[in-house]
Amino acid sequence: MLRPTVPSAIVPSTVAKYRAKTCSRATRRYGRSTTKKLPQDVNPKGVFACNELDLKEVQVYGFDYDYTLACYKPSMDYLLYNLGRDMLIQKYKYPEGIGNLEYKKDFAVRGLHYDIEKGLLLKLDSFLQIQFGTVYRGLHPVPDDEVLRLYKNRIIPIAYVEAPNKHSHDGPHRTKMVQLADLFSVPEMGLLCNVTEYFLRNHIDYHPEILFRDVKNSVQSCHPIMHGMVVQNVSEYLEQNQDLKRFFVRLKKANKKMFLVTNSPFHFVDIGMKFLVGDDWKDYFDVVIVQARKPKFFTEESRPLRIYDEVNKTQLWDRVTKLDKGAIYLEGTVKQLQDMTGWRGHQVLYFGDHPYSDLADVTLEHGWRTGAIIKELTHEISTLNNPKFKENANWLQMLTGLIEEHQDYEGPDVQTVLDEWIKERDKLRNEIKRVFNEQFGSVFRTYHNPTYFSRRLFRFADIYMSTITNLLEYSTHHTFYPRRGVMPHEYTSYFV
Ligand SMILES: [Mg+2]
Repeated sequence: MLRPTVPSAIVPSTVAKYRAKTCSRATRRYGRSTTKKLPQDVNPKGVFACNELDLKEVQVYGFDYDYTLACYKPSMDYLLYNLGRDMLIQKYKYPEGIGNLEYKKDFAVRGLHYDIEKGLLLKLDSFLQIQFGTVYRGLHPVPDDEVLRLYKNRIIPIAYVEAPNKHSHDGPHRTKMVQLADLFSVPEMGLLCNVTEYFLRNHIDYHPEILFRDVKNSVQSCHPIMHGMVVQNVSEYLEQNQDLKRFFVRLKKANKKMFLVTNSPFHFVDIGMKFLVGDDWKDYFDVVIVQARKPKFFTEESRPLRIYDEVNKTQLWDRVTKLDKGAIYLEGTVKQLQDMTGWRGHQVLYFGDHPYSDLADVTLEHGWRTGAIIKELTHEISTLNNPKFKENANWLQMLTGLIEEHQDYEGPDVQTVLDEWIKERDKLRNEIKRVFNEQFGSVFRTYHNPTYFSRRLFRFADIYMSTITNLLEYSTHHTFYPRRGVMPHEYTSYFV
């Protein structure tokens, strides 16, 4: 293709005009503040819509417990990390030296993938592209050229990350990468990276998959111990939320049905809910199901519901034929819940923090409406609202526009300026990434695209918010409308 040549009289003036913006930060800043108005702050208590949702149609509100109704303090991450680390030494006989490795807060973010063959932790975007600069072996970034050598490409084949249709009869399929989409998995990733780093530093040979499985099993096998410790000192681990009771009262006043489906055991949920809502918390719920074994609760056809005997702290063998308010049930399936209550499809709005095990199947298989509780939004929104961040993001957009517009002009002067712009843009992109998380950046974005995590979230959640009680900002007959996004072939913006 012929590149447009610009009359020499025009080029210097174009270059001079934009060089003024790039050569001095002060000039640039002046240029920025006068050329474009910065956006208004995002409401940290907002509820954000991916799909239109009319709350008038919702008769039944369902909730997960951990990280949906119950939000944990950072002390929970330390607790799980420490328990998992000690279990690795005691049960799996890992080197004693691992006992000295402390939890590194804010090292990892949710939604990363772990390559179980190569032993790398990395961030993928919605096109399955690796975000360069976010590939870690232990605590160290892997250089881009090594990443390209390892993967031969920056796009990962889909078979690496997604198993074929789960209903296929090809037998169990194991992918080469696993995604850590659960908030409880953040300390797990921290432990994985710390132990990898220890092995690398001490020249100890290890198999990444064995390490991954051991870390996972260690941390997960500590959950019952964690439950016992939280029960003894609930305020140490659980964030109080004064608005939760008010939220429940409002739903009851609006004649909404409520249910709880959690994988956690009753004694743990009971103490937490008493702390959050009060001793009468069960009065708000029409159905309570604990140890539900999600996602199996949503996918399996037949697993009988059982009754939990609160007095003797045991499960009963009686057949369950109806669901009584005030009783506690165990296991079961969503089919029995639907059959015994008559609750169906779009009448039900279910809230969870896990985009797959809480939200995917209920949306895809049962047509329930869904709300995602994404704790990380608090940090993401406070970053977005920082004036310095707004200024940088705005200038990044403008610089990209300048590069796009002038890239086809020819001549050495133009190239010099373009190179300067590209260099500055790369620097700015990294600054913007680091303010979210030093290693991995934002949970929601890579440099150019939504993350793999975001894509799944937006697909499976009708609405999402940082905390369940953000819904108090809206009435119980509110309709959430998704933003009319601009497609690439449409106008530049609807906000002109
Ligand atoms: Mg949860």
